Amino acid sequence: MKRAPRRSIGLGGLALLIALAGCAPERTPPFLLLLSVDTLRADRVGAYGGPPGLTPHIDALMAESVVFENAFSTCSYTLPSLGALMTGRYPEEVGMHANVSLLGPEFATLASVLELGGWVTGAVVSNYVLRSETGMDRGFGVYDDTFTQREANRDLPERTAAPTTDAALRLADQLLEAGGPGAFLWVHYQDPHGPYLPPSGRRERFLDAARSRPNGALRLESGSPFGAIPAYQYVEGQNEVAFYLAGYDGEISYLDDEVGRLLRGLEERGITDNAVIVFVADHGEALGEADYWFSHGEYLMDALIHLPLSIRAPGLEPGRRDEPVSQLDLFPTLLALFDVPLADAYQGHDLLSGEIPRDREIYLASLRGSSVPRYGLIADGFKYVVTRRESGREEQLFRLGDDGQDVSGDEPETTARMRGRLATLRSRLRVPQERRLQINADERRRLEQLGYLVD
Ligand SMILES: [Zn+2]
Repeated sequence: MKRAPRRSIGLGGLALLIALAGCAPERTPPFLLLLSVDTLRADRVGAYGGPPGLTPHIDALMAESVVFENAFSTCSYTLPSLGALMTGRYPEEVGMHANVSLLGPEFATLASVLELGGWVTGAVVSNYVLRSETGMDRGFGVYDDTFTQREANRDLPERTAAPTTDAALRLADQLLEAGGPGAFLWVHYQDPHGPYLPPSGRRERFLDAARSRPNGALRLESGSPFGAIPAYQYVEGQNEVAFYLAGYDGEISYLDDEVGRLLRGLEERGITDNAVIVFVADHGEALGEADYWFSHGEYLMDALIHLPLSIRAPGLEPGRRDEPVSQLDLFPTLLALFDVPLADAYQGHDLLSGEIPRDREIYLASLRGSSVPRYGLIADGFKYVVTRRESGREEQLFRLGDDGQDVSGDEPETTARMRGRLATLRSRLRVPQERRLQINADERRRLEQLGYLVD
């Protein structure tokens, strides 16, 4: 595996954009804000057709951004998804199959490449599975993974949005003070992840609307996420689906306010005009699709892999793109924007210069985040998914954007073509031995309570 060579970073791409915008390119060093949100379905965000008024601050940011309407995660759980984002490679290629995988030291990351170029780098992450032991801290001069809070109804570490914003603004000050040819700040909010326990009053605000949704009045027992309310989400005595739908929206609304506060804070520091701001989720959340409730990881359906993804940059004309893209495209896109030459070991496409091929392939895999392995491919306007059960191999074909109907029977030639393309792609993946975190019984319990399958 090649690594990006050590060199000073030019600012050609961004300088060009700034010059096009009529500003002096050498005015201030660039500031990259990567804003990622856990468990945020694209269709709850206003710019993606979400409910009016639920995400006004994210929508305002997206109105100034290029919004990618057909963005997909390569998998539907946290660590491998964000590992792909940071390396520009499929999770398997960097040995990340599960939430207890370890990112091998040989893989260059967005942060490590920028740091090699002298950038000051920092991260504030608020999901326990991103703690520094996973290797996700690579390249970050400061990696703030402190979880000082405990969830309201159980003994789990967490950090909610307000302290995440506070920590992010403190870190922004630190990075600005340190100086350098550029600054990179990654902020990962955790709030829409279950259990849905938004601040007081937030759930209530969305209850009426939730009750009027198609499955809002349904009542479910507590149990597994298949056909019931998963145990880690269940609040005693609350069996109405609307209670949880409203809780999820309440968390999103709270998160959105904090995104607004973070962006205002950066504006007060005079860096918003010059900042490149990326907004993205790591994966979505099932709200009853396929009778799978308030969870993620299982399946490769759009509810779980369709991402909100936008890029705002000085001089970049806001707009919408509908080509299929993935979170792993951010690695080459951002490095090209900052004029950093790339090693050849990455999979993504640069989203901002030139064409994004419409016939491109996006590989999907949920290998150990689900009860059975699944993998698939997005290509040519279709999504092809293989489920590997003990009883045999199942295959499904969907038209992209319509998960409701398996069309493999109507499209035998397309199905066969996708089967062949997927086999070829998988045969070419260079998959290293997975390295796993050593976790003790207490950590295992915590992860399982968060709803993660550890093995
Ligand atoms: Zn996640």
